[in-house]
Amino acid sequence: MYDVKSMKAEEFISDEEIQATLKYADENKDNMEVVDKIIAKAKLGKGLTHREASVLLACDNEAKLQEIYDLARQIKEDYYGNRIVLFAPLYLSNYCVNGCLYCPYHAKNKHISRKKLTQDEIRKEVIALQDMGHKRLAIELGEDPVNNPIEYVLESINTIYNIKHKNGAIRRVNVNIAATTVENYRKLHEAGIGTYILFQETYNKEGYEKLHPTGPKHDYAYHTEAMDRAQAGGIDDVGLGVLFGLQMYRYEFAGLLMHAEHLEAVHGVGPHTISVPRVKKADDIDPDAFDNGISDEMFEKIIALIRVAVPYTGMIISTREGKAVREKALEFGISQISGGSRTSVGGYVEEESEDDNSAQFDVSDRRTLDQVISWLIDLGYVPSFCTACYREGRTGDRFMSLCKSKQILNCCHPNALMTLKEYLEDYASEETKVKGMAMINEELQKIPNEKVRRIAAEHIADISGGKRDFRF
Ligand code: SF4
Ligand code: SF4
Repeated sequence: MYDVKSMKAEEFISDEEIQATLKYADENKDNMEVVDKIIAKAKLGKGLTHREASVLLACDNEAKLQEIYDLARQIKEDYYGNRIVLFAPLYLSNYCVNGCLYCPYHAKNKHISRKKLTQDEIRKEVIALQDMGHKRLAIELGEDPVNNPIEYVLESINTIYNIKHKNGAIRRVNVNIAATTVENYRKLHEAGIGTYILFQETYNKEGYEKLHPTGPKHDYAYHTEAMDRAQAGGIDDVGLGVLFGLQMYRYEFAGLLMHAEHLEAVHGVGPHTISVPRVKKADDIDPDAFDNGISDEMFEKIIALIRVAVPYTGMIISTREGKAVREKALEFGISQISGGSRTSVGGYVEEESEDDNSAQFDVSDRRTLDQVISWLIDLGYVPSFCTACYREGRTGDRFMSLCKSKQILNCCHPNALMTLKEYLEDYASEETKVKGMAMINEELQKIPNEKVRRIAAEHIADISGGKRDFRF
């Protein structure tokens, strides 16, 4: 029985409701009256329900699709402007007791090298990341109560926040660890994490259980209800995601939106971010073994529709995707990307060699961070290293209300320019610096509030003089 407010996974992600949604979408996808009504509602910029968005996903009328893409572009512009936030993943350990069939870290993979960074090794990785210019990390670990206990995660977060090397600093640590207890979420909250990220992988319970045959992750309900426990532990910024390619994408799309609706209904705040990974090649993993792969075109449509359905939720794409796909994705909705990523444990210090098989997936976009920054500027996007909100206590419903009223834009834009300026001063190549400075000067003029414009310009001048870490 479907109940958006239920705390039971099988009720707020009801299979029955998803099946009924898919049926409703099939019945209405060619009914232009219904489609037009949904598009008109989407144009209000307040989002769509999983049923409405599913009709648009099923619709393949060219003219309507064009309208949806134009709308996605518009909504992105309205809520996120031309800024793109940068982050990097940091793999701390690939020990894992689970048996996920799509991940090379699964416990039965005996030919992968297992590594867990010591605090000293973490220090070296973080210095390498700071020297690239990163300010925001997402830490990644396999699930292993013996090798990767919560104490190790907490100690590592503390280490990361305390490394000050030259002008570098990691100002926001997002955490991607296995579903855990309220008590552990509370500890993570107290450690000052940014977003807690946990991918659902698939919302289809039967498929989920087959894809996770062994280990604690096998428990669908425990995994699916993790975000509610995170909220109970005080973490009010949570990040959702499914691994596209495992199961039927239409099912996942509806499930993902139902999860967002559940969080909003129960906690008054929807997901902070949604990630859109696709299954990729890795040691022991062949993506062709999963027969639900989606084309680049369908992937773009999904991104555009998530943008339209949940306008206030940031969207993340990683270096799993290559440059061309990332470029399209930025256009239709992505607001955060990784750059210069290494997906192996210790990968930022050690050059990844051909025979190093400890990566979680093959990176498609292998450009350096500077190349990514330069590319973003060429495309007219302002690269942002902003981490201001959580440091100013703007999280959860506080953040969402500022976001919904678009007031947050008064912070995002100047913060993007000030953090870009730091990057240009400390880490950029000469070429990037020249075009980045031109962009900053141009973008400063676009800040509507005169006082904010003046303060931002003063801070940017102060950054040239050696000062750092200004924020609105
Ligand atoms: S996806 Fe996560 S839990 Fe599953 S095997 Fe990989 S690291 Fe372990
Ligand atoms: S001001 Fe807040 S919402 Fe805007 S980019 Fe910075 S952290 Fe993100």
